[in-house]
Amino acid sequence: MDALLEGLDPEQRAAVEAPRGPVCVLAGAGTGKTRTITHRIAYLCQRGHVAPSQVLAVTFTKRAAGEMRTRLRSLDVHGAQAVTFHAAASRQLRYFWPRVIGGPRWELVDQKIRVVARAASRLGMPTESDALRDLTSEIEWAKASLLTPEDYPAAAARAARDIPAPAEQIMKLYTTYEQLKTEAQLLDFDDLLLYTAGALEDNAEVAQEFRDRYRCFVVDEYQDVTPLQQRVLDSWLGARDDLTVVGDANQTIYSFAGASPQPLLNFGRRFPEAVVVRLERDYRSTPQVVELANDVIKWARGRPAGSRLQLIGQRPDGPKPRFHEFDDEPSEADAVAGRVKTLLDEGVAASEIAILYRVNAQSEVYEQALAGLGIPYLVRGGERFFERAEVRQAMITLRSSGAPDGSLPEVVRSALHRVGLTDEPPTGGSARERWESLLAIVELAEEFAAATPDADLPRFCVELDMRAEAQHPPTVEGVTLASLHASKGLEWDAVFLVGLVEGTMPIQYADGDEAKIEEERRLLYVGVTRAREHIWLSWALARAAGGRKYRRRSRFLYSLVPENHPAARVSGGAQRPPLMKKEKPTCRVCASTLVEAQAVKLGRCRSCPSDVDEELLESLRRWRAGRARELKVPAYVVFTDATLMAIAEQRPTDSAGLVAISGIGASKLDKFGDDVLGLVRAGVGYSAT
Ligand code: ATP
Ligand code: MG
Repeated sequence: MDALLEGLDPEQRAAVEAPRGPVCVLAGAGTGKTRTITHRIAYLCQRGHVAPSQVLAVTFTKRAAGEMRTRLRSLDVHGAQAVTFHAAASRQLRYFWPRVIGGPRWELVDQKIRVVARAASRLGMPTESDALRDLTSEIEWAKASLLTPEDYPAAAARAARDIPAPAEQIMKLYTTYEQLKTEAQLLDFDDLLLYTAGALEDNAEVAQEFRDRYRCFVVDEYQDVTPLQQRVLDSWLGARDDLTVVGDANQTIYSFAGASPQPLLNFGRRFPEAVVVRLERDYRSTPQVVELANDVIKWARGRPAGSRLQLIGQRPDGPKPRFHEFDDEPSEADAVAGRVKTLLDEGVAASEIAILYRVNAQSEVYEQALAGLGIPYLVRGGERFFERAEVRQAMITLRSSGAPDGSLPEVVRSALHRVGLTDEPPTGGSARERWESLLAIVELAEEFAAATPDADLPRFCVELDMRAEAQHPPTVEGVTLASLHASKGLEWDAVFLVGLVEGTMPIQYADGDEAKIEEERRLLYVGVTRAREHIWLSWALARAAGGRKYRRRSRFLYSLVPENHPAARVSGGAQRPPLMKKEKPTCRVCASTLVEAQAVKLGRCRSCPSDVDEELLESLRRWRAGRARELKVPAYVVFTDATLMAIAEQRPTDSAGLVAISGIGASKLDKFGDDVLGLVRAGVGYSAT
């Protein structure tokens, strides 16, 4: 039994051995929080304090839940639930439905955006898909924050939400959306949580049965809990207090969706008798990575009390962090791929390497660079494995494959050739991703055949169904490409943080809003702390090869790049002061500091020579007038004159170039990016002839 305690330091052990009751582990990245809670579950079960089936451990993403399950299995705990909040609620609701609601179970909304679209068109609001996406996010935020439609306008104003339509209209849309959903007897994801909480709050018998069944609750990544999830958790607990939470306020990265670290930070106040443990030893990363992480977070403003932990690296020294500035993005990606190749040659496994970026669209150039060197990779954070079209299709094909001759892996491979598996990987993009998925199934078949003496196709199909049910995707051997958000809780030997330029990191729409900037800083902190040994940070001054170098490296880097480092020199000559209060934009023609708003948007002094493409500007103006009419908004809401001018001058040819223009953030990119790029491309073609 004490083997369980052996691999723990004294503080971790205190949390593991604490008697049943409230426990809070408040600690930085890599200090063993997830390890501590999985050991605590194992310990309580081994000592007979609780049965595994009475444990409910929840977290926020399926991947993190999968990670917990894997760790529990390796500690020989079987039968404890480790799932996401949604999975837990959905299961409970299904079980209690006949008693609390009755009648046929309501279906889950298949495509929420369609219901929002019907509601919008009923109210005469814009129904183009980009507008709908933004509106849907607002409804989701409101529900996650436990707001009724009537509460929405005031709450949105208080939270300084960047709202896509007048608040009163969103309020009406939210009301209509709920009506349509109820009429059609549909539930959305948030309803699963709301109804579950309601069932337990309002129905004593149901609550009693549930509370007899589950007695011990554990929450990982508790800093990202929303009020709605907290309410579900409270309904689970009732008057009990057998709750262990772990989290790191410095890793709060979902505030935009309504999450808040307050329940974590106030845990000791809510449960005065709680065992509160702080961990400072970082077991994941070398002292070099730890120092960088400490540097990233120490300048954070408005850090809540209780989050000022300094990590202390426990591992032997490793290589220094690498900082690299490149002329353009393809060069950046090529250099990253080259360095990945070197690491692979040195014996680092591909699955121990990750390339992390701020927005998913950044993956493409890295996919190309890796494919160019024949390095296997997989893109994370897209659709879940068993929900991908090619995987579903593959499973149907396998099920209907009869009983051909050959070993299981051979049979699977040849069946999957029919749905597009080739011997050689296709290069780039979604074809490559599909191919990786199919290959992953073949590898799964190999694994299964090795572990199961009488493995055959029918048994393998059952195994796949079980995995799909448990959402346990196969691990594919390859370099991971993922967004920073998707990397939370995970770790790799080598981590590349790429594309660290202003407008991308921090993201454009955070500019001017300190709270949002701080969330971006925490995101960078999450990224740095994923690395065990090798960490690389890079940025490129131009988007396209040979393009104009109008980009600036991320403001977060100024305090990090060592002074004597070549990359410490800022291109354009002007040395930036360290740790500026606010980043000062400079003119791309004469390099002087820009103050005036129009000049900032243009990226040059108004008196400096302009190389505007007049024809393009004219067609942009015509397009803007049309869109403004369609959307029933004033033209400047689409783009201001200064933004149009900046587009006509800089002629960005892709979305990264577009978002680099001040005034164009993710939502505008979503809404208008394709149109504008189309116009620019048409213009480029025109002037070339
Ligand atoms: P994050 O905040 O990123 O989720 P975490 O606090 O959950 O991090 P873990 O993932 O549990 O950290 O642990 C980080 C790494 O350190 C893991 O590889 C884990 O096995 C290892 N580790 C944790 N505690 C110890 C320990 N006492 N001795 C040796 N290794 C440890
Ligand atoms: Mg963790």
